[in-house]
Amino acid sequence: RHVPEEISTLLSMTQPMKLRGFQKWDTFCDAVSNMMNNTLLPADGKGVMVALRPVPGIRIEQALTLCRPNRTGDIMTIGDNRLVLFLSFCRVNDLDTALNHIFPLPTGDIFSNRMVWFEDNLISAEIVQMRLLKPEQWGKPLPLAASKKPVLNATHDGHAWRRVPEPLRLLQDAEERAS
Ligand code: C2E
Ligand code: C2E
Repeated sequence: RHVPEEISTLLSMTQPMKLRGFQKWDTFCDAVSNMMNNTLLPADGKGVMVALRPVPGIRIEQALTLCRPNRTGDIMTIGDNRLVLFLSFCRVNDLDTALNHIFPLPTGDIFSNRMVWFEDNLISAEIVQMRLLKPEQWGKPLPLAASKKPVLNATHDGHAWRRVPEPLRLLQDAEERAS
């Protein structure tokens, strides 16, 4: 059936909220600015954007492997040694709650610096700055990260992060003979 033009426009405007997880730098900027320009969404209530810089010794690509958003509409990108997250419909007072759902470790253990934007015009202004970053500076996820062993052996059960127990034999045959 023919979809009226205004309905398909409405549908396309809601698409960015269907994304989840890692996005290329430019896709991330497009998605967030589409949301900011969507007058159907509440003014200054569309979400929170946060930029995180890893502690010395952790590469941004490694930090990315620890960032596991569950909620549709939660997206992130990496570039310029920063991980930038957009948490749709998260309120700024709930930022720590949301970050605890997304990272299996306290974010203070992974990141030394945090910047937060939570009003439409401030988020849009930061997106303008982000668009100036040259493609050479855009980050990429580590190759084969999905099939490799995760950095931290933990899974999210919908409520909290849990370490996955691994069976371990305390005494090996060789050690038993040695004693
Ligand atoms: P909210 O979105 O108003 O959700 C309030 C409470 O409703 C949540 O408290 C949680 O108990 C429940 N809730 C909402 N959505 C879901 C869901 O999809 N599944 C389940 N199982 N429960 C849900 P909670 O968890 O303490 O979160 C408080 C606030 O923190 C949320 O308010 C939201 O603003 C923010 N937040 C928490 N986790 C996330 C997240 O993963 N992504 C984003 N974008 N925001 C989050
Ligand atoms: P979703 O929004 O894509 O969220 C996917 C999963 O992320 C949720 O699975 C839950 O494990 C986690 N999650 C997202 N937001 C929150 C949050 O604020 N607090 C906590 N504790 N966990 C969160 P779940 O619970 O099986 O929900 C599946 C889907 O059902 C959600 O997909 C959402 O579309 C809907 N849903 C569930 N509870 C709520 C709610 O309280 N409010 C709204 N608006 N939708 C909900």
